[in-house]
Amino acid sequence: MIIILLGAPGAGKGTYAARLSKLLDLPNISTGDLVRDEIRSRSTFGNKAKEYSEKGLLVPDNLITDILKYRIIKDDYKNGFILDGFPRTVRQAELLQDIISIDVVVNIAVPDDVIIDRLSSRLNCRNCGAIYNAKHLKPKRDMICDLCNGPLYQRKDDTPPIIQNRLNVYKKETAPLINYYAKQSILKQFIAQNPQASPDETVKDIVKLLHDVIS
Ligand code: AMP
Repeated sequence: MIIILLGAPGAGKGTYAARLSKLLDLPNISTGDLVRDEIRSRSTFGNKAKEYSEKGLLVPDNLITDILKYRIIKDDYKNGFILDGFPRTVRQAELLQDIISIDVVVNIAVPDDVIIDRLSSRLNCRNCGAIYNAKHLKPKRDMICDLCNGPLYQRKDDTPPIIQNRLNVYKKETAPLINYYAKQSILKQFIAQNPQASPDETVKDIVKLLHDVIS
């Protein structure tokens, strides 16, 4: 089973992907995490990706697709996976289609003002990548991950001018994928009914939406 989570930065893809992964017993792959790992390890790819990523721009299609290809050939992914953050352009979707067959795409629709508010207070665990929010999803201890005790930090690209760039890039490059997958009849639209609900509650609604695909 291959599930794609589509949505603007800050729509909740990473938060829901981690929870869906546990509920459905499928590994999740965040291409944003792959990019950050490569940047941290100063690999050739990481050094190239850094220039784009820090400005809130997309890494070139061929580069990111190669990194993903290399990951999904591993045995852990042979029964399927959840993709968070890929594809982000129609070209990436075409390249992906040449490699695998996708079962379902969930588009998580969230208004811009909610996204800007969420991203500017988002915190990530440096150790395990878990996602928190200084206003809406606080860790139990200040700046410490509940799951692994790792230190929390704010991503460099979660600051106002870069957030705006990322939203512009999303609208221009990624939003056309909604139509692209709708035309293939594999798109499901998810609009959170209760924006105040916890991620654990919201993800149950996503599972309900996927009922016919996963049963
Ligand atoms: P994310 O954590 O998903 O917001 O991704 C962080 C950054 O990694 C993005 O702003 C891009 O620079 C890069 N990135 C992640 N996924 C992709 C992708 N599918 N295509 C191009 N760049 C990506």
